[in-house]
Amino acid sequence: MGAKKLRVNLLRYTPNPQEAVAMGAKLCYSAAGIEDLKHGIEAGSQDAFLERLMEFGHFSPIEHASFTFGIEGVSRSLLAQITRHRIASFSVKSQRYVSEASGAKEEEVFGYIIPPRITALGPEAVKEFEAQMGQIQEWYDGWVEKLGSSGKSTNEDARFILPNAAETKMMVTMNARELLHFFNLRCCNRAQWEIRALAAEMLRLVREAAPILFGEAGPGCLKGSCPEGKMSCGKINEVREKFKNI
Ligand SMILES: Cc1cc2nc3c(=O)[nH]c(=O)nc-3n(C[C@H](O)[C@H](O)[C@H](O)COP(=O)(O)OP(=O)(O)OC[C@H]3O[C@@H](n4cnc5c(N)ncnc54)[C@H](O)[C@@H]3O)c2cc1C
Repeated sequence: MGAKKLRVNLLRYTPNPQEAVAMGAKLCYSAAGIEDLKHGIEAGSQDAFLERLMEFGHFSPIEHASFTFGIEGVSRSLLAQITRHRIASFSVKSQRYVSEASGAKEEEVFGYIIPPRITALGPEAVKEFEAQMGQIQEWYDGWVEKLGSSGKSTNEDARFILPNAAETKMMVTMNARELLHFFNLRCCNRAQWEIRALAAEMLRLVREAAPILFGEAGPGCLKGSCPEGKMSCGKINEVREKFKNI
């Protein structure tokens, strides 16, 4: 257990996601039957058509492509933020069914995330943070013992002592339209560092799988002026460069 790092896996996605989107979009503009459309799409490249679709912002067909991520090494603090995205689907490791109690090893501590600014303060700061996590582990174990080690009903109360830093794991599914919206908000420098790092990694993965759908994805400032106004980070060129090469 102990300190954990972000890990993101693109577990599954709609097969041929760009073809599925092209099919939905072509249906809107064509008198042909479904079978003819399907053959037409399989017969040739849809890249130019899709590029135009993305440029027009005709986004309802991109809802036909879905992407499922396995996410580990993130905090409960991140969980509170990502679950605000209501169009996404979530499965999250339970703190009721899964105990955080120490194992056989005395030094074992539940998983947690160390904020990079604390790490940057140096080894003493990290040691202090880890000691605090160790203290919380002792408190947690103490409540498990007092509550009678009775599984779910004990875990669900003992967890009240756990911090926002506690690690969680989740599976998240979003369609391409929701992903574009998520990237727009969460790749922005105004977003909190942990969800920003997660969003950037998710974008890198889906851009590989569907380069046209996500080629221009990222924070709002990639396509125009910064939408954050007075709250702008003032680093538009740096941000554009980062998301061009992600
Ligand atoms: C930098 C930053 C700071 C933030 N700070 C705070 C904060 O201090 N406090 C706080 O509470 N939250 C905060 N949030 C969270 C924010 O308010 C949103 O809850 C979160 O970003 C999800 O956005 P969303 O609702 O657009 O997304 P989603 O839930 O993914 O929805 C996508 C879109 O679908 C539409 N939609 C979804 N549900 C409805 C509905 N019920 N009715 C109408 N339209 C709907 C909307 O157009 C919406 O934009 C912050 C977010 C960011 C990025």
